[in-house]
Amino acid sequence: MTQYPNLLAPLDLGFTTLKNRVLMGSMHTGLEETGDWNRVAEFYAERARGDVALMVTGGIGPNLEGSVLPGAAMMTTDKDVANHSIVTQRVHDAGGKIAMQILHAGRYAYGPKCVAPSPVKSPISPFPPAELDEDGIEKQISDIVNAAVLAQKAGYDGVEIMGSEGYFINQFIVTHTNKRTDRWGGSYENRIRLPIEVVRRTREAVGSDFIIIYRLSMIDLVPNGSTTEEVIHLAKEVEKAGATIINTGIGWHEARVPTIATSVPRRAFAWVTQKLMGHVQIPVITSNRINTPEVAESVLAEGCADMVSMARPMLADAHFVRKTQDGLADQIAPCIGCNQACLDHTFGGKLTSCLVNPRACHETELEIKPAETAKTVAIVGAGPAGLSTAITCAERGHTVTIFDRDREIGGQLNMAKQIPGKEEFHGFVDWYRTMVATLDITLKLGQEATAADLDGFDEIIIATGVKPRDTGIPGQDGANVVSYIDVLRGKAEVGKRVAVVGAGGIGFDVSEFLVHEGESPTENLPGWLKEWGVADPAQHRGGLAPEGPQPEGPARQVTLLQRKAEKHGKRLGKTTGWIHRAALKMKDVSFVGGVNYERIDADGLHVSFGEARENPTLIEADTIVMCAGQEPLRVLADDLEALGKSVHVIGGADVAAELDAKRAINQGTRLAATL
Ligand code: NAP
Ligand code: SF4
Repeated sequence: MTQYPNLLAPLDLGFTTLKNRVLMGSMHTGLEETGDWNRVAEFYAERARGDVALMVTGGIGPNLEGSVLPGAAMMTTDKDVANHSIVTQRVHDAGGKIAMQILHAGRYAYGPKCVAPSPVKSPISPFPPAELDEDGIEKQISDIVNAAVLAQKAGYDGVEIMGSEGYFINQFIVTHTNKRTDRWGGSYENRIRLPIEVVRRTREAVGSDFIIIYRLSMIDLVPNGSTTEEVIHLAKEVEKAGATIINTGIGWHEARVPTIATSVPRRAFAWVTQKLMGHVQIPVITSNRINTPEVAESVLAEGCADMVSMARPMLADAHFVRKTQDGLADQIAPCIGCNQACLDHTFGGKLTSCLVNPRACHETELEIKPAETAKTVAIVGAGPAGLSTAITCAERGHTVTIFDRDREIGGQLNMAKQIPGKEEFHGFVDWYRTMVATLDITLKLGQEATAADLDGFDEIIIATGVKPRDTGIPGQDGANVVSYIDVLRGKAEVGKRVAVVGAGGIGFDVSEFLVHEGESPTENLPGWLKEWGVADPAQHRGGLAPEGPQPEGPARQVTLLQRKAEKHGKRLGKTTGWIHRAALKMKDVSFVGGVNYERIDADGLHVSFGEARENPTLIEADTIVMCAGQEPLRVLADDLEALGKSVHVIGGADVAAELDAKRAINQGTRLAATL
């Protein structure tokens, strides 16, 4: 008997059956744009082998004006059909099913030719859209229908029509972006004419035995968004028009509420999808921050939806569903919701991957094959770099021993997991622990490895990490100065007024840690919703609370400092930096930039500004926390090299500057694939 009876139950769609209740949600990976369709096919086939019931491709444009970017993948020609056929064939051979998402971006299209119901510029794009006339709207509908017909020709099992997240169709639905007075604007009936026509005409064109998923915005999180009553009305109309499944979307891209970042509570929006249950007869899918089989099962068991959509978890582990079926759920590599290698890459114009799984979207290039010769491998350092190397080495058949002077594995991940909003790091370290045990990796913890300990190993890998940078600020040896390590390990008393030196990832994290006390909002859904100003969309349009965000007061008065004169957090993740900034602003953290650190004394931190060291200022503080970056810790590597031993140095021990787990894991995995 499985622990996941709802998740693993088949779903009968009448003309076809889905083997379980897991949809791989659409992700813009950038793979289609590489033009290497073998690579695209392998990405999806790997996930089909992992037994996900149905996959949705990244958004494919139905025409030039609707494509997310100039050069983005479209479905408009026979050549496109031929390329996509490579994907569908490979997925079907692997026993999977796949639908193509048709994405018309409307005013979110990043180009001067973008079109929309009304000429209302988006806050996240520099391009004002052109207002469509009647013929223009007809053209967009027929282009979308044409893309569906071509997708069917290419062998897809269905299409997903993107009607949420603030894209083109969604832009017609709400008055926030639809200011028209003709039959496509004005009353709600007029504003939902477009989605209904698109679904109706698509169904007419593709016939009955083809999946049409309509992605419907359940909670817009923008001013003048839809109410639940309107959403239910639209869902019923979309069902009548011929949709097979309704997938739900949460929040527009321009919303100022985080919807998928790691600090968003798990299954934070399942209650919103649940409002649709019972109002339509077709299956309803919920999504957002569902990343384990347990969470997915609970959402289904509680009747919040008929299916769950997981996107990023399928990057972290392509075999999520298969491992769930096989009773190996604890071996599923967890998506920690960081966005660092997926969405941050997408929005940075880079190919998507995954921090936890560097093979994601690199399946054809980073292959993990059994080693030709089994070796003994010593790895010093049980942080993310060392652990990832160890796992890949062991999977390839090497015998691995890990040394770490700490008594537990995880390295800096153990500090990250102390930060409110980063609770997912607990699961990440747990997963490493499971894999180390499963792969019979020997752990030698609580002892400093010496050169002698490493004698006799075929390969030696140094992943000893980093040490905090010495800033040399006069007075830094005072009793009121502590390092971030002492703070996060609970070894330092921190007063009520704090100056944080250094506003990189760790300075932000430590500030977050210091302004909170008690339960993390990420573990308390009602508290989190209140903090970000999310209300019930049945009562307030778009799900925005009229009173706005209502955060708890800060536990401490924090000043976050940097020498650079640039905006604080500029170098944080593209899709998460704004969240970190907004979260600290809500806690009244003051951002001070462009400083010179003059000295520390019992009154606090003395700074000046500019090259002329003007405007001397005292930042009054009981405690000064040093978060000024890292330097490589490579004493052992140097000792071994002096003895003439050949070693591989990876992670922070190699290059500490702006080191993060993404680079460390990628470097370690790639090294291990070659040994
Ligand atoms: P970091 O990002 O390199 O930031 C170091 C900070 O220290 C900067 O604000 C820098 O700003 C300051 N600094 C550098 N040299 C200094 C000196 N000599 N004296 C005083 N201040 C100095 O390093 P980190 O904060 O330790 O983070 C390490 C890595 O982990 C980074 O890659 C970071 O992105 C990653 N991380 C990421 C997250 C995340 O949320 N994604 C969270 C934590 C850590 P100024 O030079 O302007 O003073
Ligand atoms: Fe999840 Fe982070 Fe991987 Fe993206 S990069 S899939 S958020 S773990």
